[in-house]
Amino acid sequence: MRTLVLTGIKKMEIEDNKLEDPQRGWVTLKVNYAGIRGSELSAFVGQNELRKSLSVMGHEFTGKVVKLGEDVDPKLLNKNVAVNPLVTCGKCRYCKTGNRQLCLERKLIGVDYPGAFAEYVNVPEYSCYEIKEIPEASLAEPLATALRGVLQAGPEIDDRALVIGAGTIGLLATKIFSSVGCRKVVSMDINDNRLEHVDILINNAGICPFEDFFKIDIDLFEKVWKVNVESHYFITQAVSKHMIEKGIKGRILIMSSISGRVGGEFQTHYTTTKSALNGFMHSVAIVLGRYGILVNSLEPGTITTDINKDDLSNEEKRKYMERRTVVGRLGDPEDMVAPALFLVSDDNTYVTGSELLADGGMFINLQ
Ligand SMILES: [Zn+2]
Repeated sequence: MRTLVLTGIKKMEIEDNKLEDPQRGWVTLKVNYAGIRGSELSAFVGQNELRKSLSVMGHEFTGKVVKLGEDVDPKLLNKNVAVNPLVTCGKCRYCKTGNRQLCLERKLIGVDYPGAFAEYVNVPEYSCYEIKEIPEASLAEPLATALRGVLQAGPEIDDRALVIGAGTIGLLATKIFSSVGCRKVVSMDINDNRLEHVDILINNAGICPFEDFFKIDIDLFEKVWKVNVESHYFITQAVSKHMIEKGIKGRILIMSSISGRVGGEFQTHYTTTKSALNGFMHSVAIVLGRYGILVNSLEPGTITTDINKDDLSNEEKRKYMERRTVVGRLGDPEDMVAPALFLVSDDNTYVTGSELLADGGMFINLQ
């Protein structure tokens, strides 16, 4: 069978190797899909002590059972399986209490045993999990790692989560945090190669420290300006540069506000920045149009978030704002999802340089 062998630093070669028969309790898989893990990339450049020269890597994979060793359940034959690459003793207290990952004699397929960068690979029966045959199933192993990490963090509904590192496991953890109901999940990385694959940019940073016009000094004004305008400006500049270099026909959304159109007595700094964002959006939509990048702004009305929690704790003010809408209620953050998604989706093929007002009719409700 053909195997991909690590033969030196930055050197891998395809070799013809003999496939051993599976030992007792093991099976032979025909490999369907194998993922490439960060540890294997580091081995490729000679920076991983575990993975030595002449080894066959590959420890996240799926395959079809084509041969059974002794004492294996015959029903496993021809089944598609994902594999937990751990090989453990099965006798120690860790193995017997469901903590195989702590077994002191644990070994790994793809490190201590030949891995799945080959046509065939031998694995223990107890490591096989029957799955539907789809390429994504080869991510079962990193998904399990991400899930374990997320569970240890113990997220609760409405929590905010920061995932440092946007590799496979980091991105899977980001997905898991979102799917268990975290309100805001941020994934960060310093690796340009990962950051360059940005298809969609949503500029959402904004603050609104309500204040009397005559009490707003240069420090407060600059703070609001930096968060609300400068961050949008320079992040858009950096990300759109990458989109152009990569030929990505991306989508950029700038979170403006109904306050880009109307005033607020205690928001003279804030409304200034929101008008500025619309001006910026118009111009940058012209700049980026020729590259197929569409730029728009969303203008939420009064949406109940932390930004106006104090202001709306005044019952009278809250009732007044509710009456200003034509739908009779203030907005929830969820109300912004569909309009934002449309503007950044592939469904949007022709809308650019546009402000979408999502305010429950507040703006047009004059009399
Ligand atoms: Zn053990």
